[in-house]
Amino acid sequence: MINMSKIKRVVIVGGTHGNEITGIYLVKKFERSPHLIQRSSFEALTLLGNPQAYAIGKRYVDTDLNRCFLPEDLENPNLTSYETQRAKIIYQTFSSQGSQPADFVIDLHSSTANMGLTIILASQHQFNLQLAAYLASINPKVKILYSRSRNQERPHLDSICEFGCTVEVGAIAQGILDAGLFQETEEIVHAILDYLAAYNQGNPPPRKDKLSVYQSIQTIDYPRNESGEIEAMIHPQLQFRDYQPLHPGEPIFLTFDGKEIVYEGDSVVYPVFINEAAYYEKGIAMCITEIINQNLVQDEG
Ligand SMILES: [Zn+2]
Repeated sequence: MINMSKIKRVVIVGGTHGNEITGIYLVKKFERSPHLIQRSSFEALTLLGNPQAYAIGKRYVDTDLNRCFLPEDLENPNLTSYETQRAKIIYQTFSSQGSQPADFVIDLHSSTANMGLTIILASQHQFNLQLAAYLASINPKVKILYSRSRNQERPHLDSICEFGCTVEVGAIAQGILDAGLFQETEEIVHAILDYLAAYNQGNPPPRKDKLSVYQSIQTIDYPRNESGEIEAMIHPQLQFRDYQPLHPGEPIFLTFDGKEIVYEGDSVVYPVFINEAAYYEKGIAMCITEIINQNLVQDEG
């Protein structure tokens, strides 16, 4: 087992994006029935990440809250938009220096891409990897994703804690609920809480000792003209094919005139977030990942 202290407080966040309502309705359910998330060895709290965005049915009011958690931005007094201030409040509450420091954060999201049941790791700490291996071993549909950034800093809400993850389920349209994905999200939350409780008792449940992590290596934007307008769509053969192997030379885009544009990489990759609605404005048509096989530290006797 990893030598670290016990998990004393967990925060479960829904609605970091105001139009991803699976997590919002799950948080509301937990607030109505707090016993569902109670475990004897830690406190579990809930948070509606971006209530203003939820009120207007949008991803955000001024800027994407889930890109507001870089240390330099949290410290920058000149950033005064709704979400940058909201990020500061969340950080000042739940970070290790906060008023109610959390040891683990679960941030609930949904995607218009066919992300299935994706766990995005907040860090590649062994603790997160071992939890991920447990989740993947109890549900083969679970995929583990890690996005590496150049400077090692992530702007995401789950970076307020060293331990935690983002749950990304899909495909689901913005602003709607899918009962199946709601239930599967809830099951993942319970599995995480049960794992943390067992860990606290020094008895983490059995899991595989190897884990395949999809590591994001680059993003691909849509082909655009000089004024930035999109000139092609996701190719129908690629749509909803998240996590499926993409070989060099296979089509990824189709122009409005029906011309195919192929993937020009030199190895097999695994695209994710294909045609995510929220990423058109970010210049991302898909994220390209490769599979990294992680060996996990063995539990001691
Ligand atoms: Zn989201």
